Amino acid sequence: MTALLSVRDLSVRFTVRRARSWHRVAAVTDVTFDLAPGECLALVGESGCGKSVLASALLGLLPANAATAGTALLTTTGADGVDLLSAGERVLAERVRGRRVGLIPQSPAGHLTPVRTIRSQLAETIRELTGRPRAELGAAVPAAAERAAFPADHLDRHPHELSGGLAQRAATALALVADAPLLLADEPTTGLDRDLVERTVTELRRQVDDGHALLLITHDLAAAELVADRVAVMYAGRIVELTDAASFFGSPGPRHPYARRLLNALPTRAFTPIPGMPPELDALPSGCAFAPRCTAATSVCATDLPPLENGTACHHPHTPILNLATDSPIRGEHTESAQGSTGPSSEHPEKNDALSS
Ligand code: SF4
Repeated sequence: MTALLSVRDLSVRFTVRRARSWHRVAAVTDVTFDLAPGECLALVGESGCGKSVLASALLGLLPANAATAGTALLTTTGADGVDLLSAGERVLAERVRGRRVGLIPQSPAGHLTPVRTIRSQLAETIRELTGRPRAELGAAVPAAAERAAFPADHLDRHPHELSGGLAQRAATALALVADAPLLLADEPTTGLDRDLVERTVTELRRQVDDGHALLLITHDLAAAELVADRVAVMYAGRIVELTDAASFFGSPGPRHPYARRLLNALPTRAFTPIPGMPPELDALPSGCAFAPRCTAATSVCATDLPPLENGTACHHPHTPILNLATDSPIRGEHTESAQGSTGPSSEHPEKNDALSS
């Protein structure tokens, strides 16, 4: 299927002054992916890995001290393609934000105007984005609310009178007003209880099944499992694993050691935290950024940056043990413990020979 959003080698650098000297922060580096209509790509990783910076870059909302490289081509039916990274603010404001890219924000309560009712905010957004005349707004507002399952009898409430889930639906309704083909949801489940998380992701999945492309940015892997078709794992500004959701969350599971640790940190799995801290983005090593935390690291990891090949950026990706009778992975059987190994792997005899020395 033709990509709706085609991102190539997207990089973001911030120039910051700290301790009387200038630093260059590599927030996002060489990110490449495609996203098709009717598909959800979940971009996951720990806080500070660069996923929200990437979202801001796509929306043209980076601060003035940021510089971008690469391309992010948005191609929608009936409109010229637009490179979101090189487009000017006027193009983004008048032709992209809200119209071709709908933003479902991290904090819906903060995104909504506190002194106006949801009806008023929906009416203004519909008028602005679609040009509908005032006479039609009476019917258009409940219809817009209905698309996000926001109850019509709550339209005259202010944001502070809504539960977290209803505020999320109100923000989603605003994002859907112009039927933007690309939806960008930035941590939409943060701060919600589990019941509301499930309702929110069910709603997002409904939008995907209706044909929208959804870029879901989240550190909530449990939510991503409920909605995503593919998963991109970010670490220290780079995508280290890009694969389909079924094999990531099921069998054979992630191949990158960081992705495996991330998944196994879930309370529903091994509930084992990843030891150590991510590196400072203004002092990244020349080799693999995960090496100081990786039990599978070898000397080559410290010196050579692993390229993203076959969906994994790792010199020693995890390899499932195959059932020779069926030629399929044996569930739970891998060359590295699913709960994270603590010592050298026998499958990679050269592992741990240098970093431990
Ligand atoms: S095995 Fe090496 S390349 Fe792979 S994640 Fe570990 S340190 Fe990085």
